[in-house]
Amino acid sequence: MAKYKLVPTPGSKVSLKKYDPEFVGSYDKESARAEVDDLRGKLSELQERLYAEGKQSLLVVFQAMDTGGKDGAIEKVFGGINPAGVQVTSFKVPSALELAHDFLWRIHQHTPSKGYIGVFNRSHYEDVLVVRVNKLVPDSVWQKRYEHINHFEHLLADNGTRILKFYLHISKDEQKKRMLDRLRQPDKNWKFSKGDLPVRERWDDYMSAYEDAISNCNTSYAPWHIVPANNKWYRDLMVAKTIVKTLEDMNPTYPSPEEGLDEVVIPD
Ligand code: ADP
Repeated sequence: MAKYKLVPTPGSKVSLKKYDPEFVGSYDKESARAEVDDLRGKLSELQERLYAEGKQSLLVVFQAMDTGGKDGAIEKVFGGINPAGVQVTSFKVPSALELAHDFLWRIHQHTPSKGYIGVFNRSHYEDVLVVRVNKLVPDSVWQKRYEHINHFEHLLADNGTRILKFYLHISKDEQKKRMLDRLRQPDKNWKFSKGDLPVRERWDDYMSAYEDAISNCNTSYAPWHIVPANNKWYRDLMVAKTIVKTLEDMNPTYPSPEEGLDEVVIPD
């Protein structure tokens, strides 16, 4: 069976053409969905332990082209866990106040506190993607950002935050299919934006920007995962598996109970 390497070797130059967005390994839809259900249960239990322990946090970053499935993956993977323990942040076009600061200022405010899982729907990577492709700042400014990002993520890691970054990899043909679905189905019309078309026209420029972002910022403390995402069920499975494996490795433990609990009498 063909092999697929979810995490490129840190330091290597990534070529997205070598990653097949259709890849599903030996899974079919039914077996993948069943496993995701199972993983959701595990995730729920691990999240509770993380919260109870209150010493570490997890940051999960999602990036993708339009229709790539960021919203779907977040809903499917995190749908079953206690909403009080997860903070999802969607990063939009920066406000005037945000633009008056360094690009990480708005991001840092949303990194997860100890005990929490933080989920980023788009992220600081927009500042080396759309900002680069649309030439919103001079080259000399965005080029330095890879280093800024690595230092920033290292700081978070040193402070007890595990970081997982997912690039949901769809093909240009698959995007066309999904855009057509959004146009044809009235209940999906709201998801279609004419503004997404100029972005599609710059597909190759975005792929180059993603390749550089992934290559330059794929570190041992904040690895990039290139998730084959043409099939939604396989995408969700890869994301769920990676998150559960990481939380298992973090091994959050319930704090020891207060002393003398066996002598406590609850008054009438
Ligand atoms: P989404 O497509 O994620 O569902 P929106 O349709 O509201 O949400 O799109 C958010 C927009 O904000 C995207 O076009 C994205 O490129 C843009 N954006 C996010 N961060 C930045 C940034 N730092 N600079 C410029 N544009 C940004």
